[in-house]
Amino acid sequence: MSPQPTADAFGFVFDNSYARDLEGFYVTCHGAPVVAPEILRLNTALAVELGLNPAALNTPEGARILAGASVPTGAAPLAMAYAGHQFGGFSAQLGDGRAVLIGEVIDQNGLRRDIHLKGSGRTPFSRGGDGKAVLGPVLREYLMGEAMHALGIPTTRALAATATGELVRRDADLQPGAVLARVAASHLRVGTFQFFAARGETDRLRQLTDYAIARHDPDLIGQPDNALLFLRNTIKRQAKLLAGWMSVGFIHGVMNTDNMTISGETIDYGPCAFMDQYDPATVFSSIDRQGRYAYGNQPAIAQWNLARLAETLLDFIATDTEAAIRIATAEVGAFDEIFEAEWLGLMRAKLGLTTAAPEDDALVQGFLKALDGQGADFTNSFRALADVVRGQTGALRAQVTDPDSLSDWQEGWQARLACDGVAPDIRAEAMDARNPVYIPRNHLVEAALAAAASGDMAPFDQLLAVVAQPFAARAAFRHYAEPAPDSFGQYRTFCGT
Ligand code: AMP
Ligand code: MG
Repeated sequence: MSPQPTADAFGFVFDNSYARDLEGFYVTCHGAPVVAPEILRLNTALAVELGLNPAALNTPEGARILAGASVPTGAAPLAMAYAGHQFGGFSAQLGDGRAVLIGEVIDQNGLRRDIHLKGSGRTPFSRGGDGKAVLGPVLREYLMGEAMHALGIPTTRALAATATGELVRRDADLQPGAVLARVAASHLRVGTFQFFAARGETDRLRQLTDYAIARHDPDLIGQPDNALLFLRNTIKRQAKLLAGWMSVGFIHGVMNTDNMTISGETIDYGPCAFMDQYDPATVFSSIDRQGRYAYGNQPAIAQWNLARLAETLLDFIATDTEAAIRIATAEVGAFDEIFEAEWLGLMRAKLGLTTAAPEDDALVQGFLKALDGQGADFTNSFRALADVVRGQTGALRAQVTDPDSLSDWQEGWQARLACDGVAPDIRAEAMDARNPVYIPRNHLVEAALAAAASGDMAPFDQLLAVVAQPFAARAAFRHYAEPAPDSFGQYRTFCGT
């Protein structure tokens, strides 16, 4: 019997399956030395969930570890190889160019979690990049991930944001350097599979598939058509994720295949943002000039990305390529139906429906259509529906420029509600638990990041506290639920690296 590994002072008990089982799929490498690491924010609750000791991490040596300058006992830092379709064009070699996976821990719930440092310095995959990250994007990823988690949508999460004490050049500016310690169910991406498929490394691809199955679909271990079933499960996980995003108005902004996980968690919060006024064509990212990753396109893009995953698995689906393509195509085609069902389930709950009826899809579409082009705030319009159930229509009518245009829809909706006889107060309460009051509103995110850049973390902390409880209306935080003032103008996001 091998001795049980014991936790060090920080609580780390690493069990690094990726390093151990997938030699040749990564390059071992270390973070760069750091001038003056300082933990800006530590996610204490998450640290505890991971079995770590927050007090020990909140020390100078903890800061060095979280910045990548010191390797904790049992860690095996490495940069993962991956490829990816970026805005439709294929790059055969991307990989962790500014991040290292330091290892895996088993959390308090028995789940394996990656601990990964983003911005810890150059790796063999850096190409021309500096391997660094800067404060604004690191804090943005921290905030957005925690907001997403609180909304109940699967996501990678921030364990810590650590300032490096150095200045990093970004365009014409020098910005404070920072490292994000990120936790994920795994960092396997569609692009990880594409990397080995593009090189024709079928044995490695099979090895990777088996690893992914062991990690995310252990029920499939040893099953004869498990590559196909793994594809099916990954499609289901992504359909569910996309339904979650769509239900809260989230726009990822850079849905490249290297930014799409196998686990079904949201990853890589770059130019992402929550939609304010409802408009399916909404795009915030300055690099997305064609609107490829617009709000309304996201499910179709996810399906396109899953087709790229399916292509890498063909050899394991059937020996005859034609047959494999036919089977995989049908599987990817099923995304639509799975997504629709997931989405409709979420939207029904948002409308306060507790039963299913054939006309519900049209009812949801009817509401969205009534909001479109009316300047209606997506989040607040849904939240206002519970008020209508409580007998107050003012908040909903105030959302749209022409309130009378809502009347017909409202009549149909209320007739539908009457069919599933739930007491109004109980229904309204259930709706409040599904329609958030607080999302990380773009103007507030920008204000919090600007304050943090000048050394004031209070607005960031306040916003984080508000979005960490998105469903509980609190009078003191009323302005956090208000749309951006007109002076904020058209919002643009940047792929902050
Ligand atoms: P992302 O846009 O963060 O999804 O990254 C896309 C690819 O570019 C990945 O291979 C990253 O590792 C790489 N990359 C992004 N920023 C940097 C940087 N500052 N230095 C090196 N590589 C980078
Ligand atoms: Mg990425």
